[in-house]
Amino acid sequence: MGIVQRVCPSARAGILYIYAVSACVLLLVTVAYMSYGKSPSAHILRAALRASYATRINSIFESAAKLHTKPWAKLATLADDFGSRLSGSQGLDDAIDWTAREMRADGLDSVELINVTVPVWRRGSRSASYASLISPRHADLAVMALGGSVPTPGPGEALEAEAVVVSSYGELRTMGAIGSADGKIVVLDAAWVSYDENYEYRSRAAVEAARVGAVAVLVRSLTPHSIYSVHTGGMHYEPGVVQIPAGAITTEDADMLRRMQDRGHVLSLALALNCSVGPPAPSANVVAELTGRTHPEQVVLLGAHIDAWDVGTGAMDDGGGVVAVWHALSLLHSLGLRPARTIRVVLFTNEENGLAGGQAYAEHYASELGNHVLAIESDSGVFDPRGFYAAGGSSETAAALSAVATLLSHPPTHVDARAMTSALETGADISPLLAAGVPTLELQADGGVYFDYHHTRADTADKIDPVELNRCIGVLAAMAYVVADMPETLPR
Ligand SMILES: [Zn+2]
Repeated sequence: MGIVQRVCPSARAGILYIYAVSACVLLLVTVAYMSYGKSPSAHILRAALRASYATRINSIFESAAKLHTKPWAKLATLADDFGSRLSGSQGLDDAIDWTAREMRADGLDSVELINVTVPVWRRGSRSASYASLISPRHADLAVMALGGSVPTPGPGEALEAEAVVVSSYGELRTMGAIGSADGKIVVLDAAWVSYDENYEYRSRAAVEAARVGAVAVLVRSLTPHSIYSVHTGGMHYEPGVVQIPAGAITTEDADMLRRMQDRGHVLSLALALNCSVGPPAPSANVVAELTGRTHPEQVVLLGAHIDAWDVGTGAMDDGGGVVAVWHALSLLHSLGLRPARTIRVVLFTNEENGLAGGQAYAEHYASELGNHVLAIESDSGVFDPRGFYAAGGSSETAAALSAVATLLSHPPTHVDARAMTSALETGADISPLLAAGVPTLELQADGGVYFDYHHTRADTADKIDPVELNRCIGVLAAMAYVVADMPETLPR
């Protein structure tokens, strides 16, 4: 895919006045740093940042609110017109081209496609993938292969085996020690705690079940609530461990199978999954910039992932993030708010089943990662913004980011995103940057319903509220702008 650059018109004249007025206030921030070495007192830094940036932050929040349904309409187009966007699909290729075209139309300084080779896995036809309870009675069970699963053996034939329901890997290993999972289909029915806690019951399920001799594994969908919804997601195999088919079933069916087993029934299941692996395919990260005024080589990154699972339309995960970071940059551009450092939006490809986009970005810019001041990702939904999760950097980084976060409140538009929560990791796409020493943030939004729809056919545009999306745009724009414009570079 080609590389195209566009140069935007000069900044709006009106903003020059704001710069002039704020120049003396910026001096305060500099003095705050100079007086206190690399770590001015939090109180002084907060006061200096507020004095310098409050007017511009308010303008960002008010302008974001006035975007009305424009960003949401772009999200609906991305989700509806291109649909699911699994790596290697036409939908993803078309979505990448459309988004790049739209961003160029917004007049950003540069919009480039950086080529990335992505792995290809296909679910196969829905009619040829099914699960059934065949004993002690017959019942159809909704099922989806986990992304990356091998198919069941024998095209057109179902794997039939006795099933055993377990609630933890501990229980599975105990069973394995006496050979009682041998040749069976394991149903992994781990109670929902949180996505982070339950994640390993999807990602490692096939490995753990194969180790005790199982022929296939079905995991309870990772969700706190269900209306008979199946949630797919990534999984992996390990060298030296037999690769067995892995799928997800609904929480309702997992509960039912558990109850039947508890009543002493011997369960038998039939399972057919006809997924396949294809040759790696070309794809791309979309990279767009607002070039810094005085330190263009220093970068504040705003990222999201443009690929999505092949079920639903990837509106929440992560179409909302894509639209939010894109419109955060376009909003700053339209307001003439060009910061001292560069703000770079990256729409990563292949987050869901490979992370090739995130890895390729870190490799492509390897020599420039020392100049990556901060990487921010939005990949946890664009519901009402609460603040950020922070990982990486030092206590000085945390203090400075917390000082910036105190600015992220604007009662007239109901924005209150001042929470800064320390975390071990943030967005998956920026994890290679975190590993390279770049401080990272992830937008923290109200997560109330996120995992109800995550990786399901119900991940559609109606789940996103236009007003909340605009608040996320404002919060991302404000955080990126202040960090990209502060007199002193964010300490590491
Ligand atoms: Zn995601």
